[in-house]
Amino acid sequence: MSNIIDLSLSELVSNIKNKKLSSYDVTSEYVERSKKSKNLNTYIEETFDAALKKAKEFDTKPDLNKKLPGIPMAIKDLFCTKNVKTTASSKILNNFIPTYESTVTQNLWNDGAILLGKLNCDEFAMGSSNETSYFGNVISPIDKDLVPGGSSGGSASALAAKLTPATIGTDTGGSIRQPASFTGTVGLKPTYGSCSRYGIVAFASSLDQAGPMTRNVNDAALLLEVMSSFDNKDSTSVDFKRPMYSKDLSKDIKGKKIGIPKEYRVDGMSEEIEKLWENGKNYLKDCGAEIIDVSLPHTKFALPTYYIVAPAEASSNLARYDGVKYGFRTKGNNLIDMYEKTRSAGFGDEVKRRIMIGTYVLSSGYYDAYYLKAQKVRRLIKNDFNNIFQKVDAILTPSTPSSAFKIGDKSNDPVSMYLNDIFTVPVNLAGLPGISIPAGLDKKGYPLGLQIIGKSFDEQNILNIAYSMEDKINFKFNLKEWWIND
Ligand code: GLN
Repeated sequence: MSNIIDLSLSELVSNIKNKKLSSYDVTSEYVERSKKSKNLNTYIEETFDAALKKAKEFDTKPDLNKKLPGIPMAIKDLFCTKNVKTTASSKILNNFIPTYESTVTQNLWNDGAILLGKLNCDEFAMGSSNETSYFGNVISPIDKDLVPGGSSGGSASALAAKLTPATIGTDTGGSIRQPASFTGTVGLKPTYGSCSRYGIVAFASSLDQAGPMTRNVNDAALLLEVMSSFDNKDSTSVDFKRPMYSKDLSKDIKGKKIGIPKEYRVDGMSEEIEKLWENGKNYLKDCGAEIIDVSLPHTKFALPTYYIVAPAEASSNLARYDGVKYGFRTKGNNLIDMYEKTRSAGFGDEVKRRIMIGTYVLSSGYYDAYYLKAQKVRRLIKNDFNNIFQKVDAILTPSTPSSAFKIGDKSNDPVSMYLNDIFTVPVNLAGLPGISIPAGLDKKGYPLGLQIIGKSFDEQNILNIAYSMEDKINFKFNLKEWWIND
């Protein structure tokens, strides 16, 4: 058998089910490797001893009907985990220990998974490079100077470095798909309402969605199957019959119509990305799909719309962190002074920037001009997709306008950082599912991803398209282990 850490999630599951491996075999390998990964700064909280104990318990009475039997998994620190510190990578939640579990993580544990630890991310998931975390930057295992993407940067880095067999992230404007694209991994943002938001630290409630981050498409299908459930603790959870995504995975996409939106050919896009996109079209044709040019005319408004709606919702969600209810508090001369001092010291710069933008666009003089206008444009963006989906089954675009950039390259220029989300935010604004799969390398040898966008609740279809493309692309990436410290 190959090394345990080289096995995909699905392979691990079948080896445990066939009793070729025990949960302890697998968990101890991941714990040992994770302990040597300090250079990447992926873990904020390690629960290794508890994980090993749970693995032993699992092995004494293994329930092999579970979908993730005894599988260890490290998780983005935005998901509340009962009795395990949950910080959202912030100072203000630095000492917050939830008394409840998020529904999505509970679904993982109910199906046999075991928590390895909590992974670093951008503070309150605000960022595209994992440089805004209170706990420091996450480093990409690809190169010590590179960002892993964000906000699920710790998750992407841990996944690519094989510190966890698979993981989950959250995606408000691209935070699953962009880091997946930067690290040569698979990331899926489900339709809004598919995975419960209960117990996930809120960023922008009408956009946030949890989803799988995995080494291949099959694993993404399996993990989504476990994560997605109707939940009456989340009023936006949708009650529909969830397919068995992994069981129904198929490479037969003959006759599928795939749209290529011309508006995604943005100014200054590199030839490499053009070429990647072109290759993607050819792979699809090889699979028997039909390529159709389409137009999504309001695409150019997606980024400004997102950067009004998301900060507006964030400023409202973050109002709860006042030094009284959760976490960190600074002394003040009176109540208002305590609020001010706590929030000034407790939030980082990017979060403060979003709070300021958000409160500005929601303030009485500007509400109509900004927030209300943005909501109207959001509807037009959604209508564009609805129109296109009369003619095509899915849409193919690049996942990001470039490969991973260097640490520090964009951190002083928020607009250039925000531009990185140009291909991912329209999907969140429209509430649609999107998947990024590794599709090639740029000149520097860094991974590039392609994104497949689907109709609402049509995850099976985009998974099938990704599955057939994955076969044709046959992406190979040799990761050097420069970061291991013994
Ligand atoms: N990069 C985007 C932002 O900073 C998206 C973040 C996310 O999806 N959580 O808002």
